[in-house]
Amino acid sequence: MAGSRTFTMIKPKAVKNQHIGGITAMIEAAGFKIVAMKKTQLSAEQAGLFYEVHKERPFYGELCEFMSSGPIVPMILEKENAVADFRKLIGATDPAEAEEGTIRKKYATSKGENAVHGSDSDENATLEASFFFSALEQY
Ligand code: ADP
Repeated sequence: MAGSRTFTMIKPKAVKNQHIGGITAMIEAAGFKIVAMKKTQLSAEQAGLFYEVHKERPFYGELCEFMSSGPIVPMILEKENAVADFRKLIGATDPAEAEEGTIRKKYATSKGENAVHGSDSDENATLEASFFFSALEQY
C-alpha cells in the first residue's frame, strides 16, 4: 500500500545552518519516502499566502518575514498515517517543549525558527503540496 501523504518544509535557518542532510536523514530513518523535494525561496507575499490561516495571529508578520528570509526545502512525504506520524517526528512547536528524538528538539532554535513545517491534516497536506509541486514533480 502506498500510504498517505504529508507536506513539510525545512525552514530558512535550518537550511542556512546546513541541516538539510541531517533532517532528511531523520525523515527517511523514520520510514517516510520523499516523493517530491526542491530548494526554493518564497517572497514575503508568497509566504503570506501560504500562512494565510494565521493572518490574525500576532506572529503573522514575523513568520512571513522569517519564512521569506532565505531558501527553504519543501517536500512531500509518504507513509502510512503520514500526517500524524510526521507531527510526532517533528515534536512540539516550541523546541523547549519538544521531546528527545524529535527533529525540532535537535534542530529548532526557537518557537518561530523551529526548523520544519508539518501539515496538520490530510486536507491541508494536499493544499500545501500543490502550493509547491505540480503532479509531474511527485514520484
Ligand atoms: P506548528 O508549525 O507546530 O503546526 P502553528 O501552526 O501553531 O505551529 O504555527 C505555525 C508556525 O508559526 C510555527 O511553526 C512557528 O514557526 C510560527 N509560530 C507559532 N507560534 C509562534 C509564536 N508565538 N511566535 C513566533 N512564531 C510562532
